[in-house]
Amino acid sequence: MAWGNEATDSRLHGTNIAESVIDLIGRTPLVRLKRISELENIPSVLTMKMETTNPGGSSKDRPALEMILAAEADGLLKPGGTIVEPTSGNTGVGLAIVAAQRGYNCVFVMTDKVAPEKVSLLRAYGAEVVVCPVAVPPEDPTSYYKVAERLTIELEAFRPNQYQNPNNPIAHERTTGPELWEQTGGRITHFVAGAGTCGSITGTARFLRAKNPNIKIIAADPEGSVFSGGSGRPYLVEGVGEDFFPAAWDASLYDEIIPISDEESFLTARRVSRAEGILIGGSGGMAVAAAIRVAKAAEPNDIVVVLNPDSGRGYLSRVFDDAWMANFGFLKECEQCVGAMLGHRGNTPELLYVNPTQTVRETIDLMQTHEVSQIPVCKNTPPFANAEVSGAVDELELMDAIFHNPAVMEMQVQTVMGPKLPTIGVGQKVELAVQMLDSAAALLVLSGGRPLSVMTRSDVLSYLQAVSAYG
Ligand code: PMP
Repeated sequence: MAWGNEATDSRLHGTNIAESVIDLIGRTPLVRLKRISELENIPSVLTMKMETTNPGGSSKDRPALEMILAAEADGLLKPGGTIVEPTSGNTGVGLAIVAAQRGYNCVFVMTDKVAPEKVSLLRAYGAEVVVCPVAVPPEDPTSYYKVAERLTIELEAFRPNQYQNPNNPIAHERTTGPELWEQTGGRITHFVAGAGTCGSITGTARFLRAKNPNIKIIAADPEGSVFSGGSGRPYLVEGVGEDFFPAAWDASLYDEIIPISDEESFLTARRVSRAEGILIGGSGGMAVAAAIRVAKAAEPNDIVVVLNPDSGRGYLSRVFDDAWMANFGFLKECEQCVGAMLGHRGNTPELLYVNPTQTVRETIDLMQTHEVSQIPVCKNTPPFANAEVSGAVDELELMDAIFHNPAVMEMQVQTVMGPKLPTIGVGQKVELAVQMLDSAAALLVLSGGRPLSVMTRSDVLSYLQAVSAYG
């Protein structure tokens, strides 16, 4: 159920000493989520596959090992060779561990969405890390896919390509699936996992379905990702969801795909960590949120397994940082906060925005109709829930640009827009808004990680005026 024990040194015979760290990959424990089940009144048996006990701390050790072993067997990786991979971190750790044991160099390419600890972690294993902007399309030469492609050629490296490599799902088919079958005595009824490369869900599902075609397979997906019908962005949970369909995606295996918001993912990660004493990350929170729904609807004798891919340790500066969470509008710091100020406004629509491709003339029309002096520029609309903020324009900038070049009037607003507005969470303090508006003309208010409204000095003034009138 794991990769064959390679112990060749006769001095280890009769001991319980692993030949190397590689032999500790897989065979992770399965634990009941007892406290969460009580809190949620779950009738069935909800359990978690703890992939955190892999040497690299995540499920990704499994495909990393399988892909390297296959590359060696196929002659794609020669002694002393280099591995290049675009990875959000966990696959990198797995590859770095196996590479250390087998004498390869590693270069990892990541986006700037990834938590900074993950970059430091890979460097700690001796790998080289290249960070690329997330806000560019995959075909852009600075995108992390393209940079990885270029480096692979330049360094004559082996590219595991976890999104296309069949050995990624095979790793889970050969190990995760059989482990779950054995650990539940063949009684597993539901398997829930987040999908990124889809290696975990598809590989595990293949094995389990071959054993029992009635086992339900449920994918958890960040709201906005293509797996659950979104456009691919934007969302904040790391390591799961995509803007394309990887090779291991196999809709015929999944009974259900449950979209989960960033807010629910993060709050669930925090709740599970506290209630169970099991520190899990945002994608684990997402998977558990989906599993809770599944387990609530399941029968008392059903055994629901949720795969927890990694630990919350990698997300201490994000999911577990109250200030970070509050800034995205995931946490409330006070009762009468920024959200309360929004309630005091006149009939301005909740959020006014322009698309990057709208003309400057259209933008000015909109601003004048609604009597606003600045407006965010957002793509992916409608519905606005999927909006991605690109920048902002204000009347001063527009006036200046048109005065110097009247042709600007018919140009797309994205050609003249300025940087994004500073953000504040809907649950942050009024005094923070006042402080920030000292240097900024407007703030973008976020709720649940998404833009909710624009707040200006005049909004704060009307609020303060109203409060003092009651007062
Ligand atoms: N969570 C995290 C944090 C991950 O890094 C990954 C892997 N990208 C996943 C979940 C999803 O696993 P898979 O790629 O096997 O679908």
